[in-house]
Amino acid sequence: MTATMHAWEVREPGPVEGQSLRYVEKPVPTPGPGELLVHVRTCGVCRTDLHVTEGDLPVHRPHVTPGHEVVGVVAATGPDVDGHAVGDRVGVAWLRSTDGTCRFCRRGDENLCPASRYTGWDADGGYAEYTTVPAAFAYALPGGVGDTALSPLLCAGIIGYRALLRTSLPENGRLGLYGFGGSAHLCAQLALAQGARVHVLTRGAAARRLALDLGAASAGGADGRPPEPLDGAILFAPAGGLVPVALRALDRGGVLAVAGIHLSDIPPLAYEQDLFYEREVRSVTANTRRDGRDFLALAERHRVRATTHPYPLSRAQDALRDLKAGRFDGAAVLVNDLEPRGPVPPG
Ligand SMILES: [Zn+2]
Ligand SMILES: [Zn+2]
Repeated sequence: MTATMHAWEVREPGPVEGQSLRYVEKPVPTPGPGELLVHVRTCGVCRTDLHVTEGDLPVHRPHVTPGHEVVGVVAATGPDVDGHAVGDRVGVAWLRSTDGTCRFCRRGDENLCPASRYTGWDADGGYAEYTTVPAAFAYALPGGVGDTALSPLLCAGIIGYRALLRTSLPENGRLGLYGFGGSAHLCAQLALAQGARVHVLTRGAAARRLALDLGAASAGGADGRPPEPLDGAILFAPAGGLVPVALRALDRGGVLAVAGIHLSDIPPLAYEQDLFYEREVRSVTANTRRDGRDFLALAERHRVRATTHPYPLSRAQDALRDLKAGRFDGAAVLVNDLEPRGPVPPG
């Protein structure tokens, strides 16, 4: 008899306020060669899950289970797995696999691999009791931090870190963060710990309060102007209209990094006003495993902590609706509060 589990899947991409998601009972997946079967303990709720659910991103796998910030425990291993054992706590993140052979992989830019595949988009993710992950892409996790607090680090944290790297912020630089959700509030903590002055520009009053509590030098409205010119800025809000706003807030030589995977259209830019004096706009595409490992180590050293809002797994749809409506600050995390279903498939 095959064990079954509860899982969310995208029924038909569309507004999350409707019935685009459904909660189903389906077989526990079987780990393939080189893969781990992971019993999900927690899974963070990322804006990308909303993009997958609503169809902002094209369908890669029909009826996919979203979720790519999984903290779980290895329940079984597929053939040819080294270095992981049943019972190990692991993290499952967005980058699921690459070919390892293309020009980008060979030069260390595996985030640009044209054959890359993603958890919760190309393969079923963590809005479920169990998920699978290629062992080579599972993260070892630091001890001493709980599952719920760790989950948002696995995408929101790692992407925020890569975005910060992409700004090439000078030492003790002035950094602007546009939008202040799950990713930004982790990025802010790291930037502050590394000596940056951080200005937050976001619409929510609760998010502005959180920013100041974390040590931001200022917190104002998203289309306002920071109190001083910026050496670097990161656009976390998926609003292309903020690109010229942020560019105009940059000092000479400043860099704007666009962190999101999806952005509404950017209005026309005026060369002199928006780009001259060597200001730059750069995109951020996923991350490498090295980014992930480096960030997890830095987060542990600097005690980067996510502000979390737990939801039971059965309420994933509500968590996504609340994310869309901006009903919480920090990051929502799904908690698998269901009893483990045995027996799991043999490894
Ligand atoms: Zn490649
Ligand atoms: Zn994500």
